[in-house]
Amino acid sequence: MPEKIPVHQYDPGKGEPSASDLYAKRRKIQPRSISGAFEHWRNFGVWLILGLYFSVAWINYHGRQALLFDLPNRHFYVFGWTFWPQDFILLSWLLIISAFTLFAVTVFAGRVWCGYACPQTVWTKLFLHIEKWTEGDRNARMRLDKAPLTLNKALRRTTKHLGWVVVSLLTGLTFIGYFDPIRSLWSELKASQWNEAEVFWMFLFAATTYLNAGWLREQVCMYMCPYGRFQSVMFDRDTLMVSYDHARGEPRGSRRRDADPKAAQLGDCIDCELCVQVCPTGIDIRNGLQFECIACAACIDACDSVMEQMGYAKGLVRYTTENALEHGHPIHILRPRLIGYSLMILFMATLFIYTLSTRNPMGLDVIRDRNALYRESSEGLIENSYILNVMNKSQDPEDLEIHVQGMPPGSIMQGTQHLHLLSGELRTVTETLEEEPEKLHHTEMSIDFHVNETGKPGVAVDAASRFFAPAADR
Ligand code: SF4
Ligand code: SF4
Repeated sequence: MPEKIPVHQYDPGKGEPSASDLYAKRRKIQPRSISGAFEHWRNFGVWLILGLYFSVAWINYHGRQALLFDLPNRHFYVFGWTFWPQDFILLSWLLIISAFTLFAVTVFAGRVWCGYACPQTVWTKLFLHIEKWTEGDRNARMRLDKAPLTLNKALRRTTKHLGWVVVSLLTGLTFIGYFDPIRSLWSELKASQWNEAEVFWMFLFAATTYLNAGWLREQVCMYMCPYGRFQSVMFDRDTLMVSYDHARGEPRGSRRRDADPKAAQLGDCIDCELCVQVCPTGIDIRNGLQFECIACAACIDACDSVMEQMGYAKGLVRYTTENALEHGHPIHILRPRLIGYSLMILFMATLFIYTLSTRNPMGLDVIRDRNALYRESSEGLIENSYILNVMNKSQDPEDLEIHVQGMPPGSIMQGTQHLHLLSGELRTVTETLEEEPEKLHHTEMSIDFHVNETGKPGVAVDAASRFFAPAADR
């Protein structure tokens, strides 16, 4: 007999058939603060990242901002190295290496990036600290939420938002300080001389920070972050995850501290819900792995403190793997996927370091004069003109020489032939090549411009171009 699909009759007179609501109203989450081993690591990560973010922009190296992405001039300064758009391949390598490192970390330890180092987590944690300083911990904040508006409530709320706004503005200022020298930005700010673009970008980043870390918080991780959604496909049964030991914890139930759980036929979970109260995404880890979990381990610290108070072994909630939880297998680190990622990272990092260390310290672009293929000078010589962009990508000033190769012997090069370029400097020079018509046997010749360090012909860069001559002179 074929299987029958049940059909429900729809009667318009009796209202719509029942449907589930696709929109879930946000439940405000007030995470409780907790101390413990993982909280120390989390705080260490947060203060380290914030410290680096706010301080690196102010570090100078060789008289210039050490980390500066100078977009208008297309120079990227990274601690003494100068990168140009031509070095984009190196940046691509760096991004690929970072992506593979993130994949390897995810395969090994799940969403630890999200829990400890993601900017959304870091800034939210800072905003939570400000909230705690101004409004108190979870219970005080929940009481304040329900309380009528009083002077005390208004003062606390205003102080909190002022704190958030100051941090957001500093975040915006620092962010654009990585693209526009931060010291001049600061002086211009004091003199009220910012241009419209600077004001726009600073306020845009400040507003984004204020909204994401102050208001949206866990919703960014749950609904907006694409990486959070696809990370789970990288997990395997040996990936470390924050998990509740169901076999040990159930059946859960409250009891007196001195009660024997076995006699009461209870597991080790006392159902205190502390693990839920500390969770920044508001989930209950006892319900199993959930996509909202950012592996921050706050619930581990919370549960360990409860286990300690009860005199039970720690680790009812812990970092473990599916295989270890279900089959008691030891944690298995060296597995093919992780080895594959590690080898890939090693290979790409070696290639990146090799390319960086053997990178030509000079750059050269040649553009032909587009107004005329050639000109005839008053002396009857055939002339071609070129614009040369010469770059010094090294960390030191350089004396350079310009030559041309491929022209018949005796040809003349009019223009700059010796240059002194500062570190990271780009100079545009014009060169004109002249030749007697009788020596030109073709209407078109391949030539090379050659720039080398004065006295070091081996440290050089070449760029190809063409020399044109009139056909009538052949
Ligand atoms: S369940 Fe635990 S590890 Fe996951 S987000 Fe909540 S507190 Fe962090
Ligand atoms: S903190 Fe530990 S004991 Fe308390 S409810 Fe959570 S899992 Fe159970």
